[in-house]
Amino acid sequence: MRNLSRREFLRLCGATGAALGLTHAIKPEILEAFAGPAGGRPPIVWLQGGSCSGCSVSLLNSVQPEIGKVLTDVISLQFHQTLMAAAGEPAMDVLPAVKKQYAGQYYLIVEGSVSTGDKVMYSTLGERDGKPVSFAEWVKTMAADAKAVIAVGTCATFGGIPAAGSNPAGSKAVSDVIGGVPLINVPGCPIHPDRVLGTLVHAIKYGMPELDHLKRPTVFFGKCVHDLCERRPMFDEGKFATRLSEQGCLYKLGCKGPMAYNDCPTRRYNNNTSWCVAANAPCVACVEPGFPDHTSPFFERMPEYGPAGTPSPQPHQGKIIGGDK
Ligand code: SF4
Ligand code: SF4
Repeated sequence: MRNLSRREFLRLCGATGAALGLTHAIKPEILEAFAGPAGGRPPIVWLQGGSCSGCSVSLLNSVQPEIGKVLTDVISLQFHQTLMAAAGEPAMDVLPAVKKQYAGQYYLIVEGSVSTGDKVMYSTLGERDGKPVSFAEWVKTMAADAKAVIAVGTCATFGGIPAAGSNPAGSKAVSDVIGGVPLINVPGCPIHPDRVLGTLVHAIKYGMPELDHLKRPTVFFGKCVHDLCERRPMFDEGKFATRLSEQGCLYKLGCKGPMAYNDCPTRRYNNNTSWCVAANAPCVACVEPGFPDHTSPFFERMPEYGPAGTPSPQPHQGKIIGGDK
């Protein structure tokens, strides 16, 4: 089995997602990286809070490596509300058991926002002494002894759709409710499996990856969608689509690609098949803190950018639409 250096691994993450699908390219590396406690496999706890479960579904769509094999044979997935066979008390007993047995060794993945409204409990998980336990309490409890926390999807990283509008549930990002533990944000609505598995492999094998000011791995979130887009030459030449079915740049139809930082145009979704603009839909900057309140209306031209030929803003200027977390 080839032992990749960190530099080689990062090159794979950054360059070959487009060609093969990262998870295909790093398959041997995944097998090697996922060796540790829990019978040689690192223990993973995956908690789902305020979400549609779309990020789990997106991960399960990964076919290389076959995700079922990763979940059962490669990592030790100790807890996942949707996937685990156990239910009720036997399921809930797993969390304190993992916390005790693998303190400082397990990775906590959180999908979905954390509701903090104090009038009623908007999001609960299991019971204690006959009373529901809030999801927020479980996130804080499990994060306290985790080796690292990975917030996946825009709801977990920035609040996302549950935190939009008047936000009656007080939905917040994971970063707003935990502290004192290494945290990585992997936003997306939904996440891309490459970015989650690639981040997990890096954390396990090489430690914390390089992060941007929003705690996103720069290898996946370091470039502007607008700079990678196959329609960028059309933007620079002033060839704009006037209807979604046309082949021009979608800027005048509401595309927020100039404000979104990730590699969607090269990595693509559904096992490298397509992405929003290739499907004739404007980018809505789903990986940025302002999504969806500050990136909508989705089909209206963003006022802050242009004219054609304007250079892309630098990553820290993402605060134009979202603000710093
Ligand atoms: S505005 Fe949108 S469609 Fe046009 S080049 Fe930028 S990312 Fe591509
Ligand atoms: S192209 Fe934009 S809206 Fe589509 S997945 Fe990527 S960042 Fe999100």
